[in-house]
Amino acid sequence: MARYRDSVCRICRREGLKLFLKGDRCYTDKCSIDRRAYPPGQHGQGRKKTTEYGVQLREKQKVRRMYGLLEKQFRNYFKIAARQKGATGDNLLVLIESRLDNMVYRFGFANSRNEARQMVSHGHFLVDGKKANVPSMRLKVGSMIEVREKSLKHGKISDALDAVVRRGVPEWLELDRDKFKGTVKALPSREDITMPIQENLIVELYSK
Ligand code: SF4
Repeated sequence: MARYRDSVCRICRREGLKLFLKGDRCYTDKCSIDRRAYPPGQHGQGRKKTTEYGVQLREKQKVRRMYGLLEKQFRNYFKIAARQKGATGDNLLVLIESRLDNMVYRFGFANSRNEARQMVSHGHFLVDGKKANVPSMRLKVGSMIEVREKSLKHGKISDALDAVVRRGVPEWLELDRDKFKGTVKALPSREDITMPIQENLIVELYSK
């Protein structure tokens, strides 16, 4: 599947926001956006004007890239969200947050969503006791993720769990650090998603 292969820090600089795509490095003074807070490229410091469409597009790209989704996947989530009851923008964010790779990241089993996606694909986790290696799997309230026994010694998982103290595990999740497992206590509400996201702009973009 096509994936972005360039420096992920360029994505943050393009969106003008720390998207925390590189794990621990994002919390250090090596973070590129702290050092070069302007868009990448030859004309990065020159581009200023933007249209209404441009603003909506950037917001969509920002969220899509934050969660590491392809355009088609993101649009599919939008279609599902639009069919659900309630505000489409809120539904969209909750749907994306419910993905297994995101949950693995949120619990702190991985340092970034990219890393979480790779670990899920490599079969390091069980969901409700069954092997789960599909990053897009949607978790529900009560779902339990655990690290497979053969993966317990995986250094990356222990390192990530040590590092999660820095960003914290959200209140809607319950982590049992010693047993390498966690339960989804609730799905997040809009207020629980604290990254600066203007989902109304995404709704406007896709509703054209
Ligand atoms: Fe973004 Fe992290 Fe790179 Fe900083 S270090 S620019 S937050 S990916």
